[in-house]
Amino acid sequence: MKNLRNIGVFAHVDAGKTTLTERMLQHCGAIRTVGFVDAGTAHTDRMDIERRRGISVYSTCVPVNWKGTRINIIDTPGHIDFSAEVERSMWALDCAVMVVSAAEGIQPQTEALFAALKGRPMALFINKLDREGADPEGVLAAARETLADIFVDVSDAGAMMEFIAERDEKALDDYLMGEIWPRERLDTEIARLAASAGAIPVVRGSALKDSGVEELLDAVVKYLPPPPEGAGDRLSAEVFHIENDRAMGRAAFVRMFSGALHTRDSLGERKITQIRDVALEGRAGDIGSLSAGDIGVLYGLGDVKAGDVLGENELVPGGVQPGALRQPLLLVKVEPEEVDRLDALRRALNELSAEDPLLSVDEYQRTPHVRVMGAIQLEILGDALENRFGIKARFGPPNVIYRETITRPAEGFYAYTMPKPCWAVIKFTIEPLPRGSGVVFESVVPSRDIMPRYQHQVEQAIPLAVRQGILGWQVDDVKITLIDGSHHLVHTHPLDFIVATPVAFLDGLRRGGSTLLEPILDMRITVPEECAGRVMGEIIAMRGETRDSKPVRGMIRMECDVPVATSVDFGQRLAPITGGRGAMSAALKGYRECPLELGKTCERRGVDPLDTAKYILAARSALEGGIFDL
Ligand code: GDP
Repeated sequence: MKNLRNIGVFAHVDAGKTTLTERMLQHCGAIRTVGFVDAGTAHTDRMDIERRRGISVYSTCVPVNWKGTRINIIDTPGHIDFSAEVERSMWALDCAVMVVSAAEGIQPQTEALFAALKGRPMALFINKLDREGADPEGVLAAARETLADIFVDVSDAGAMMEFIAERDEKALDDYLMGEIWPRERLDTEIARLAASAGAIPVVRGSALKDSGVEELLDAVVKYLPPPPEGAGDRLSAEVFHIENDRAMGRAAFVRMFSGALHTRDSLGERKITQIRDVALEGRAGDIGSLSAGDIGVLYGLGDVKAGDVLGENELVPGGVQPGALRQPLLLVKVEPEEVDRLDALRRALNELSAEDPLLSVDEYQRTPHVRVMGAIQLEILGDALENRFGIKARFGPPNVIYRETITRPAEGFYAYTMPKPCWAVIKFTIEPLPRGSGVVFESVVPSRDIMPRYQHQVEQAIPLAVRQGILGWQVDDVKITLIDGSHHLVHTHPLDFIVATPVAFLDGLRRGGSTLLEPILDMRITVPEECAGRVMGEIIAMRGETRDSKPVRGMIRMECDVPVATSVDFGQRLAPITGGRGAMSAALKGYRECPLELGKTCERRGVDPLDTAKYILAARSALEGGIFDL
């Protein structure tokens, strides 16, 4: 086992993650002076924009040494707009440090991060103990109640013994006899439980006042596990971050899961020209090789992208799926300031979206649109377009990305028997499902009517079919059952069932009618008592619903469901209403039905399957090219 820890630091915005990271660097001797977020001098906030706005945007991986153990600290952006970066950095780490504020406590974003990190070894840092109104006990109780009942205070041998006794009979016997194990034995047992995510050690402190930081570093080394050893020589690594280095070309930050890589190794047609260590600032030295558990930077791999796997896919531990944390909810039009740069803009956007699996680009009305999380992500995108590609871009107002579902159960039918040669007859029932169910497919057709491999094609084509419904949005929460149909031994072409599925599906959706669904945020708002009435009024005006509202230390804390569409700028509006004393956070809760007149439909991209003759022609020629993307 390597004397190494790969950790990520996660937190709700403003919980103190950047300040804490800075303190860890200082205690490990990686920096001499401590930078401060508020002064814009934090070392892990590298980009200009990060310094300007005081938020971390890009993940950075910094190696430090704590009492002989190397810790790779993967700093992750806290702002919700950058969930894609957070998810990606999760691929690279083995364990997490979760930071919560002793004053603001567990927030919806904390819960979302915790859910995404489930099953990983983790430590909890309760920060801001110095703050007036800090309530670490209350926060710990809330963590046990809302996150998991496995938090253990490692500053207290009695609490550790009790925790272990609840999980181990031998320990229980000793505990009941009034015995408390020696510290070393307690530590070993908590480390064993923590490695399988059965215990989360808790450390308290104040990053700002520099207390509890060494205890946290000790806890990381003592209780959180080193990386697994991998599967011998078999290569497996994942690219989790890309940087463009002016002199050296593209730098691919990789996490090694198994095997080894050396300078001059060939990967496909490319050769690794250099392997460098990660560094706080600038480039570190050439280290020549990487092995299982390591994080390093590869050069020479051409156009690799974040998310690319080098070697065997199967050896990458079941990572975090892109979008698990949060899906982009806003669609924004992008135009070049100089009209003749439209094609250059398209190329630049395509390149940027290739680097970022969660930035997608679509064309509507012959203009590129991007799907994003929020306003700050647009600002970053604008900066990248200007600095890297020399394109000044203008963004339109953000539009909400809706979904739709079927209103009533209905049957959809299509007989694809013309123009010959072809044969695929399909009949579906399509039924609405409760919110959050997703798309479910089932077939009850005997294989003598439709051969299993054609039934499989229908299933494969469902994601294509649901991509755009009658209102133009992705269709969700439906059960699609293949109830009848036929193939033809002579006339059925290999891909006929793929071509026919969207037509039969949309036929059913048209009969059953489409209901618009809008994204809803779970919003937590804390405001001074005297502003509560006005804020409640704002929530109602936004078509929001308040689920809970209670006084907490002179403030009112509200939990509500609010549509994305009406709350895009609520964060900015809250500040003047509350004289800057209000706070809010939000996480996606799900989708809710929305009257059509309050929402929007979406223009169709590509050919409409219900315009059947045109669609069949387009589908056939697309399939000839080996693609199917209508
Ligand atoms: P991040 O958004 O989680 O990275 O949080 P930052 O490190 O940027 O901190 C957010 C704000 O909280 C800044 O104004 C910090 O100075 C402040 N802060 C961070 N840690 C502490 C702490 O321990 N006590 C107090 N009182 N303030 C803190």
